[in-house]
Amino acid sequence: MTAVREVLAALLELQRLDLRKETLEKEREATLAPDEIETLRAHVQALEAALAERRQRLAQLRRDARWQESEAKDLDLERARQERKLYSGEVRNIKELEQLQVKVDEIKAKISDHETRALEALEAIEGLEPEIRAAEEELARQKTLLEEKTRQQASAVGAIETELEKYPERREAITARIDPKLLENYEYTRRRRGGVAVAALEKGLCGACRVKVPSALAIQVRDGQLVKCENCGRILVLER
Ligand SMILES: [Zn+2]
Repeated sequence: MTAVREVLAALLELQRLDLRKETLEKEREATLAPDEIETLRAHVQALEAALAERRQRLAQLRRDARWQESEAKDLDLERARQERKLYSGEVRNIKELEQLQVKVDEIKAKISDHETRALEALEAIEGLEPEIRAAEEELARQKTLLEEKTRQQASAVGAIETELEKYPERREAITARIDPKLLENYEYTRRRRGGVAVAALEKGLCGACRVKVPSALAIQVRDGQLVKCENCGRILVLER
C-alpha cells in the first residue's frame, strides 16, 4: 500500500508540475504580447517625426529671418547712398531730384517690407522654440518608458524561461517514480481531460468534475489505493 501511496503522491506532484508549465507558457505568451510595447514604439516614432518636422520648420524660419534682415541691410546702404546724392547739392534739376526722391521712397518701402517679414519670422521662431523644447521632453519621457518596458519584458521572460528550462529534468525525476503503464494512463487522461489527470478528493467530491465520489471509493482513496473518479475518469488522490 505504501508504494501505491507514494506513486499517487508522485502523480499529484507531476500534475502540479505539468500545470505549472502550462501556466508559465501562457504567462510568457502574455508577456511577449506585442500590443503595449508596439503601441509605445509607434508613439515614440510619431513623436520623433513630429519633432523633426518642427526642427526643419525652425531652421527654415531662421534662414528666412536672416535673409530678410540682410536684404533690409543691403537696401539701407543703397538708401543712404541715394539720400547722400539727393542732399549733396550735386543734382539741381528738379525733375531729377523728384525722381531721386521717388527712388528713395521706393527703397524705404522695400526695407520696411523686409523688416516686417523678418519680424514675422522671429515671432514664429519665438512661438516654435518652446513647442520644440516641450516635444523634446515628451519624446525623452516616452523613450525612457519604452526602454523600461522593454527591460521589464526581457527580465520577466528571462525568469519564466529559467524556470521552464528546469522542467524536463524535474519531470524526469518525478516520472522515474511512476510505473510506465500508470504514466501512460496519466498522459492519456490528461490529453482527454483538459490537461488535468489527477483530482483531489474534496469533501467527498471529485475536485475536478465536482461529482460525488461513492463512500466505498472514498474510503479506498483515503486508504491510499489507486481509484479513478467514476464520472470523469481522473485519478483521485488525497490533497496533501
Ligand atoms: Zn471526476
